[in-house]
Amino acid sequence: MITEKIRAAAKELLEKGEVETVIGWERGTFWYNSTPVFISKPEQADRLVFDDFCANNLAKYLLDYRNADGKIAVFVKGCDARAITRLIQDNQVKREKVYLIGIPCTGMKEAPKTVSSQDVAGLPLLAKCQSCATPNPVIYDILLGDPVPQKEVGNRFAGVEALEAKGADEKYEHWGKLFSECIRCYACRNVCPACNCRECAFDANGLNWLGKQNNLQENQMFNMTRAMHVAGRCIECGECERVCPMGLPLMDINRKIIKDLNELFGSYDAGLNLEDRPPLGQYKLDDPEKFM
Ligand code: SF4
Ligand code: SF4
Ligand code: SF4
Repeated sequence: MITEKIRAAAKELLEKGEVETVIGWERGTFWYNSTPVFISKPEQADRLVFDDFCANNLAKYLLDYRNADGKIAVFVKGCDARAITRLIQDNQVKREKVYLIGIPCTGMKEAPKTVSSQDVAGLPLLAKCQSCATPNPVIYDILLGDPVPQKEVGNRFAGVEALEAKGADEKYEHWGKLFSECIRCYACRNVCPACNCRECAFDANGLNWLGKQNNLQENQMFNMTRAMHVAGRCIECGECERVCPMGLPLMDINRKIIKDLNELFGSYDAGLNLEDRPPLGQYKLDDPEKFM
């Protein structure tokens, strides 16, 4: 059983002193949520679980350990591993300072509509898992379990194409309605492994061009800025959309930008390997732009 394997792996690493902290998941308050946990003693390893509700991408927590002396171990599903690749490419995390325990992933489930039923098998997969292109970790030090088969996910840009077909007024009405519902909680930013600036412009004071009001104009500015700041670096983990309390379809914006980048710079999927740098994160001396 995978939970036993992850507990054994964490315990061994901590007992041998190879890592100072292990980041994983533990059972949450309810049976349908498993939450991130940080353990530093071998006897705490029994808190770890891996079940149908370990949706949280743990990679982002590594930013809190940027200055740690020792090594940090983290469990990585496919999406988490792509996020780690991104963080290493962004020089936010050093490869030699992390120990990656890979877990092939068959997908995470949505929380039930009624909490009395504990029919886990009958619960649908999260939207992000239904369209997952990388269920197996792309980077790891050890892999627990055999790789799982890749699902057929179809055209992930179908939703974007439907929106592109709308007229300008229709698009404005569509996004205006959605953005007016945004409550500026910043959960989408906080959870995103590609959002890793030390100080976010939206937290800064005294920027006259960036307001903090919760109105359509400012919400549009925030949402478009967030999406554009991760252009070429979004790993499509779907975490921003999953955590949005207002249920905004943020992946439509992210995928529109990915689709445009693919058309402009050639096909590119962020975080698949350390060597391939994002198109907007490099330059070429023969760049056709005249100002270069
Ligand atoms: S997006 Fe993929 S790797 Fe991540 S939890 Fe879902 S199925 Fe697993
Ligand atoms: S923008 Fe959303 S989907 Fe993309 S990396 Fe960030 S959290 Fe994941
Ligand atoms: S998570 Fe949703 S509601 Fe919160 S700031 Fe992001 S888009 Fe707005």
